[in-house]
Order: sequence, then C-alpha cells, then structure tokens
Amino acid sequence: MAKDFTSRKENYSQWYNEIVAKADLAEHSAVRGCMVIKPYGYAIWEKMQAQLDKMFKETGHVNAYFPLFVPKSLFEAEEKNAEGFAKECAVVTHYRLKTDPNDKTKLIVDPEAKLEEELIVRPTSEAVIWNTYKGWIQSYRDLPILVNQWANVVRWEMRTRLFLRTAEFLWQEGHTAHATKEEAIEESKTMLDVYAEFAEQYMAMPVMKGVKTESERFAGAEETYCIEALMQDGKALQAGTSHFLGQNFAKAFEVKFANKEGKLDYVWATSWGVSTRLIGGLIMTHSDDNGLVLPPNLAPIQVAIVPIYKGEEQLAIISETALKIKKNLESKGISVKFDDRDTHKPGWKFAEYEFKGVPVRVAIGPRDLENGTVEVARRDTLEKEVLQIQDIEVKIENLLTNIQNNLLQKSIDFREENSHHVDTYEEFKKVLEEKSGFIYAHWDGTAETEEKIKQETKATIRCIPLNQKQSEGYCVYSGKPSKGRVIFAKAY
Ligand code: AMP
Repeated sequence: MAKDFTSRKENYSQWYNEIVAKADLAEHSAVRGCMVIKPYGYAIWEKMQAQLDKMFKETGHVNAYFPLFVPKSLFEAEEKNAEGFAKECAVVTHYRLKTDPNDKTKLIVDPEAKLEEELIVRPTSEAVIWNTYKGWIQSYRDLPILVNQWANVVRWEMRTRLFLRTAEFLWQEGHTAHATKEEAIEESKTMLDVYAEFAEQYMAMPVMKGVKTESERFAGAEETYCIEALMQDGKALQAGTSHFLGQNFAKAFEVKFANKEGKLDYVWATSWGVSTRLIGGLIMTHSDDNGLVLPPNLAPIQVAIVPIYKGEEQLAIISETALKIKKNLESKGISVKFDDRDTHKPGWKFAEYEFKGVPVRVAIGPRDLENGTVEVARRDTLEKEVLQIQDIEVKIENLLTNIQNNLLQKSIDFREENSHHVDTYEEFKKVLEEKSGFIYAHWDGTAETEEKIKQETKATIRCIPLNQKQSEGYCVYSGKPSKGRVIFAKAY
C-alpha cells in the first residue's frame, strides 16, 4: 500500500479522487459520468440503505418499484418539472439494432424499430408514480400513500465527480399522497428530520436544516426543504432534499379523491430523496491525509484483527485467541475481519486498514499472548494502546462508540469554526477569499440579488435556516430590509 498520496492542503480535489480510487470505493466507467461502485464502496451504501430503510419503515413507509422509463407524454404533464429536467434527459428512441449491411462486424440502429413515443430514462419518478396513483386513489380511505422506491436515476450532468455528481446515481425516492395540505407539509418535514438524524447519528456529519430559495427549488415543488453539510474545504454539500409538491402533480395527472363530506379534491403530495452523493459527503467530512476515515456506524468492517506471527504454529495459537475475540464481538453485532492472509505482511495490512478507514485495528503477536494483551489502534486519532485481553470486547465496543462521538464532535467544531456572521459585502467577499465556510448574512429576499451575488462570488444561498432565532437587518448586497439571515456558501 503506497503512502505517497496527495494531502488536502496540496490539492483537495485530487486528495478526494485518490481516496476514492485507493480505498477501492469506485472508479470511472466506459460511460462518461457513470461510475462503477466497487464492493467496498457498495458495502458502505448497503449500510446506509439498511439504516435509512429501517427509519423509513419506522415512520410508516413501505417500498415499491416503478419503471425506469417514462413515456414523454407523461413526462410533459407537470410542466415545471418537465422544463426543469428537460436539459438533462437521456431519451430512448429505438428498441432494436441490426447488422450494418456495409460492415457485418457493426451494429446500427434499426430505423424500422423507431418507438412511436420516445421514452425518457427517469431523472426522478413523480410523473410515472402520479400516473399510477391515479388508479390507486378514489377516496380519503385510500390516503395517505406512503411509498418509497430504491432505484437508479439518470441526469445527464455535464460536470461530474465520483459519488458527488454522476450522470447515473443510486438513490431512494419517497413519494407520498395526502388528503390535506397540512399533512403533506408535516410529512416533508418529518422526512427532513429523518435525513438529519441519519446524517448526524450515523454519518457523524452535522447538517443545517433549511428551506431552499425559489431559484434553488426542485422543479415542480411548492417548497424544498434540505439538509446542508460543510465539507473540510469550506464548501457546502446539499446532502438531502424533501419537497412539498402541493397539488401540482395531482392536477397534472387528474388525481382526485372524495373527502369525508363526499366532495372531490386534488391530492396533496411530497417527494424526498438522498443519493450515493452521501458517500462523497462521508469521505469529505472525516477523511484525512492518511486516507479514508469511516464512522463506526457505517463502516463495513468495524474491527480488523491482524495476527503477527512466524510460521504455521504461531499462527495457529494466535488464531485461537483472535477467533474467540471475533466471535464475541460479532455476538455484539460488531463486524470483524480476521486477516490471516499469508500473502501480505502485517505492516502492509496495517497501512491498508488505515487507508480504508477501518475504525479499530487489533494486532496480536506472540508476546501479546504471553502477556495477556493486544494492541488496539483507533483510526480517528491514530492512537495506539496495549490493552489487557480480559473484557476486550467491552473495551472495543466502548471504543467504537467513543470514535463515533468523537467524529461527530470534531465535525461540529469544524463547522462552528467555519461559520461566519457578516454584515457587509466587503466582509462577505473577504471570508470567501480567505477561508470560505458557511456565511450567515442578511438578504433582501429577491432573486436578482441572489443571482448577482452568485455571479460575483460563486457563493449561493444554501438555505434559509429552519428553527433559528431570526432578527431583522439589511441585505449585505442591496442594503434593503431583510427578515433574517440566510446561509451562503460555495457549493458542490
Ligand atoms: P432532487 O431530486 O434534485 O431533490 O435530488 C435528490 C437528492 O439527490 C439530493 O440529495 C441531491 O443532493 C442528490 N443528487 C442530485 N443530483 C445528483 C447527482 N447528479 N449525483 C448524485 N446525487 C445527486
């Protein structure tokens, strides 16, 4: 395992790319903008999925699956949504290839196999799903519908980065239908809370909950709620979104229900999603110049045990102890890898687990066995300790909790240090030049000012924070009155 890789200070973006590649998370594919998620990266996604899925079910949701393709006429039905996504759509026009008559080794699109209606590869599934809900909803008794789908979507992004922004990505999309506006708004806020809890308790990534401005709103939504995280280079990452869709999709697809009084009304909707972008956020929140750092709650391998031995006999004795520890840890629900491969030296394995962000590494050598000890190393602080083997499982379990908490606290501290309240445009620009981060500033509420600030500084309004005490002031750009501070940042 090579030690020579780029540091964050040298080149943050290259550092990120090297971690993704060298920690075996993902790689580029033959298709521009589409990635291959390798087994170690996919194992992180599976852990995220398992936890989120549990949380969705605990809040009353069920899973279903809808088609990958959206007939163009359905896609067009909700105009704003269609217009917003039109620029990034992949479109299927034919359903067959045939041998090229001029070159038998080649295939060409069969012009006779042109589809009557083009199919859009879903960039999001509101259209397909609301067209389906039309058949599911007649009366208030059919509501609410609380459905989630785990799927892939395609958005033909021009500038892509592994995990953070890819042309095809994996995600979940919740699509719910409600009898009242209040209930739908409540649902979109509940799911925002679920995302925030997941980000903080599992990813150890603190997030700001907020509302998007009109220009950053999801196409077709009445309101977009979001969670925004701060990365180590001072840039923000939109980590998840939850939309209150009003009756827009119900109107577009004629989805009406008879309420308790027997009167017909359009159904209220929400949708909400998080994607494989979260893995990018996880990497950029915790990793350091020694490689990936994973919070224990999402690490595919939480503890790696490495035997240090000469010859079969020593290995056999060490294995006995190691396997006992492994079994006891596993019975506590901790995932353990006992790495007894004889193809690599212990030093190589240490470097590998360090680079791959395994939270705890245990080394056991012959002298440890004599002394009744093991060496325990933690990835977050790189500290090592020799511990008595007695009750080692409890000690490791506590250590994992400690690492999880430490990573969250560190990220909270980082965000605190990199959040700035500014009152003038000069200060605003100075912060962006010097240190970046979250900038809390007054804004006059107009799209013009938002756009001008974006043009001049590349900083955008990440959100209007929720649950924060607001006080009136004056816009840093226009000097006009403002109802409260919003969060600006450069963003991924
Ligand atoms: P949206 O449907 O646009 O609200 O997006 C839902 C979620 O997918 C958000 O959490 C986005 O951050 C994420 N997302 C949007 N575009 C991409 C992309 N190209 N690659 C990865 N994740 C994305």
